[in-house]
Amino acid sequence: MDKTFKLLINGRQVAGAATFDVLNPATEEVVAVCPKADRAQLDEAVAAAKAAFPAWSARSYEDRAAYVLRLADALMERKDEFARLLTAEQGKPLHQAEYEIIGSTFVLRAFADMRAPEKIMRQDGGNTVIEHRTPLGVVAAITPWNFPVILLMNKLGPCLVTGNCMVAKPAPTTPLTTLLFAELAADILPAGVFNVICDQNELGSALTSHPDIAKIAFTGSTGTGSKVMASAADGIKRVTLELGGNDAAIVMGDVPPDVAAAKVFQGAMMNAGQICVAIKRAYVHESIYEEFCASIAKLAQAAVVDDGTKQGVTIGPVQNRMQYEKVKGLLEDAVAQGRVLAGGQLPDRPGYFIPPTIIADLPDDAPLVREEQFGPVLPVLKFSEVDDVVARANDSEYGLAGTVWSRDTQAAMDIARRVDAGTVWVNQHLAIDATLPFRGSKKSGLGAELGQAGLHEYTQAHIINAVELALD
Ligand code: NAD
Repeated sequence: MDKTFKLLINGRQVAGAATFDVLNPATEEVVAVCPKADRAQLDEAVAAAKAAFPAWSARSYEDRAAYVLRLADALMERKDEFARLLTAEQGKPLHQAEYEIIGSTFVLRAFADMRAPEKIMRQDGGNTVIEHRTPLGVVAAITPWNFPVILLMNKLGPCLVTGNCMVAKPAPTTPLTTLLFAELAADILPAGVFNVICDQNELGSALTSHPDIAKIAFTGSTGTGSKVMASAADGIKRVTLELGGNDAAIVMGDVPPDVAAAKVFQGAMMNAGQICVAIKRAYVHESIYEEFCASIAKLAQAAVVDDGTKQGVTIGPVQNRMQYEKVKGLLEDAVAQGRVLAGGQLPDRPGYFIPPTIIADLPDDAPLVREEQFGPVLPVLKFSEVDDVVARANDSEYGLAGTVWSRDTQAAMDIARRVDAGTVWVNQHLAIDATLPFRGSKKSGLGAELGQAGLHEYTQAHIINAVELALD
C-alpha cells in the first residue's frame, strides 16, 4: 500500500521517530509502514491533551456530543476504506470488518446521546445534597488487535462526551485503522483533544505511569492488565480493565442438537475465535452430546477458511504469529489428548491459518479447557448434572461472560444467575449493546465499559452537601 500513515499529536499528523512494518496475517506480506513514536513524542501527545483539556471540558455536553456525531458520520462515509484496511491488517472476513466499522458508528452515536447529569441526592428541609460529575483529564486508551476499531470507540465515545482528552495507543500488529481514524479526526476535533501514538510494545508502561495521565482505559490480556494496574498504583489513577476470558457455553438437553451446534459454532469461531467473549468451552448435556458433536463437526468441515478479502470466506487467519504459535501449541496438546471431531491439521501455506478445530472428551485439566485459547479451536465437554456443570464453568480464574441454552428460559436464567461472570447471555450470544454495561469478574477485568456505568468511569463523582447558614 502506498499510503503514508502518520501519528496524530496536537492536531498535527506527524511522522514517527522510526517506522515498522505491519503484516497482512493472510499473506505475511507488508500492508504498510507504521510510524513509531519515541518517548519525546509520547510526552508531546500527553502535553497536548493536557493543554486541550480546559477548553474541551468547558464546552457543553451538547457541543461535545455534536463532535462525536461528526466523527461517526465521517467514519460511516469512509466505511468501505476502513473495512478493507481492517481486513488487510487484522485478517477478519470483509463482511465482519464492515460490521465492526458500522458497529463503531453505533457506539459513537450511543455515547453522543448519553449524559451524566447532576443528581439530587437529598432535598430535605434546608439540606441539599447533589452529585455532580466532572471529567478526569487525560485518558490513555490502550487497545488490542482483535477489534482495533470498535474497542477504541468504546473508550473514545464516553471520554469525549464527558469532557476528557485522549492519547490512544493501538496494538503494534493492528495500528493502521486507528491511524486512518486519526486522519479523519484531525479534520474534526480541536487540536490536542485526541492524539494517537504507535509503538512495538515499548511505550505502554511509560504511557500508563505518566504523571499527567488521569485514567487508563485498557483492553487486552490479563497479564498486561495486571502490569497496567501496577503502574497506575503510584498515581492512584483511575483504571478500567477489560481482560481475557474463558467463557463457558452450557447447552441443556432440551435444545435440538443441530440448533445448539449452529449457535455454539458461530459463538466460538467468529473472528477466528479471537473475541474476548467467544465461547471457549462448550458443556453439552449427555442426552444430546453425540448428536451435537456430529452437527458441530459438519459445520467446522463446511467453513471456508481463507484470505478475508475473498468472496464467501467465513473464517480468516489468526491475527499474528505469536498468537498462531500459542493456538498451535494448545491444538497439538488437545489433539494428543482428546477426540478430534474436525480440523486439527494445519495447512502448509503462508498466513496464520488454523482450520476450525473441534475436540471432544478432553479432561477438565487439559490446557485447552483451562486456558484462554483465543483462536478457532473449541473443546466440547459432556455433563449430566446442573450443579456439576455450574461448578466446572466457574472453576476458572476468568469470569468475563458465558451463555446458557435451553427451551426453558426461566430455568436457563436460574443457571445464568449461578455463573460467575460479568455477563451471561441466555439463548443468544454476543448481544453487546453500547447502552448496557459490560464488565468482567475475577481476573477478567475491573470497572465497566459501555452503558451509563461505562460513561461514569470517565468522571469523578463530586458530592456537594449544603445547608442554610446557621446564624446563631
Ligand atoms: P496484550 O495485553 O498483549 O496487548 C494489549 C495492548 O497493551 C496492546 O496495545 C499492547 O501494545 C499494550 N501493552 C503491551 N505491554 C504493555 C504494558 N506493559 N503497559 C501498557 N500497555 C501494554 O493483548 P492482545 O494480545 O493485544 O489482545 C488479546 C487479549 O485481549 C486477549 O486476552 C483477549 O481476551 C483480551 N481482550 C479482552 C476484551 C474485553 O473486553 N475483555 C476485548 C478484546 C480482547
